Amino acid sequence: MRDWVTFPDGTRGRRSWDVDPQRARAWQHRLAHAWGSDERPVCDCRHQGQPMGLSVHRCLRQRDGRQVEVYHLARLRNQGALHGVACSFHEADPRCDGRGGYADGVVRERDDGRIGIALRRGLRCLDVAAGPADAAQAVRRGGQPGVVRQARMTELGLLHLFWEEAGLNSWTRGVHRARRRWSFVREALDRAALRIVPARNQTLSDRLAMIGYGDEDGPALLRETARSCGDTWRILLLGIVDDIALVDWKEGRQFCSLRFDGASAYDLRVSAASVWHERLTRSYPMAMAALARPRTERTIRVVGLVTATVRVGLDRGVALVRCRADDIALMEVEPDTLTPVSSAHELAIARALVHERRSFIRPLRFDVGRDVVLPDFVLTDTEDPRGTPMEVFGRADEAYAARRAEKARYYNEVYGQESWWSWDAVASPGRWPVFPPALARVGGEEDV
Ligand SMILES: [Zn+2]
Repeated sequence: MRDWVTFPDGTRGRRSWDVDPQRARAWQHRLAHAWGSDERPVCDCRHQGQPMGLSVHRCLRQRDGRQVEVYHLARLRNQGALHGVACSFHEADPRCDGRGGYADGVVRERDDGRIGIALRRGLRCLDVAAGPADAAQAVRRGGQPGVVRQARMTELGLLHLFWEEAGLNSWTRGVHRARRRWSFVREALDRAALRIVPARNQTLSDRLAMIGYGDEDGPALLRETARSCGDTWRILLLGIVDDIALVDWKEGRQFCSLRFDGASAYDLRVSAASVWHERLTRSYPMAMAALARPRTERTIRVVGLVTATVRVGLDRGVALVRCRADDIALMEVEPDTLTPVSSAHELAIARALVHERRSFIRPLRFDVGRDVVLPDFVLTDTEDPRGTPMEVFGRADEAYAARRAEKARYYNEVYGQESWWSWDAVASPGRWPVFPPALARVGGEEDV
């Protein structure tokens, strides 16, 4: 990912220093200095010969009971598609991303550089979810047949937004070590949460707690967030899920219990109504099948986002955080890179791309249906500045063949016959065509 930024005085820095423990403090200082200045910092992209300006924003957040200022960089409004596909300020063409599946205003860039969203279920405990009819309220745009746009964002859409804003759906060879540390992932997600605004005067960051293995600061942050939610707010729990099981309770009744990876250090209990087990099995068969296997035999990891009411109580002298889930969304990811995948074939391709030290983006579907054309991956290191779409065709039935033909038509028309890649995993299982070649790497763009 290209993320170098040049300030008006000629000094340079990287956006990713935000989450680099050694550099974050100096970087925040640098951004604070640039905040409110008349001249803008720029990235390395050019549009019509001019560098692309960026803006510096300031947010306030609660930490240890006091307000802390946090600065961040954002692209200028509606310029996402003008940034190169390898630039960290790039936003995909709506045709290449599930964000395009929402009605106007569900996801919007605000004047302050943050992202406003309309959630299906608000975060106040009193808010109820918009009913199914309401949520699926199909907004047909401009009378176009077949174009159905979601009027609200579900928990799964929000999980995808977190992942995308945190840059976790893109991969370049330099990020490897960092992404294996949960504290790095937590920091990146936390930065994303600061930029997402679900309603006036709310930020997701105040309600989000992340659970991960070996994260020293995590347990204290969870308790702090849980206490600040109190009886008024729902908490959002985000982490790698280790187990989802039906547990026998009293009088023959059952409840659904969800355990995050590393949760034993957190004194956290997450439960949901028993019906959630069946619901998740239906909606996320790949994730639930993986969780049913012993940990050492799982080929994927499962990320979970839980919206819950929360209570902190004392249990034998220990502060125990109890959460009752109102909603659960899951996402299957490749275990090392945390790249989202939705089939074993895609998993194989994600691994091969990493092995070949390629750079790519995994477009996320958010809440759009299966009928919308989205590539499975987009290579960002080829000579095509728009990136090179990649499709994994994993079925052979008739309905699928029609969709496949539609995709091929779309890519041939938009990118040209030679400028996209596909693999027919049914016709040649386990053997895929050679990937399109990468451009020679340019000095200064190296991710180290
Ligand atoms: Zn750029």
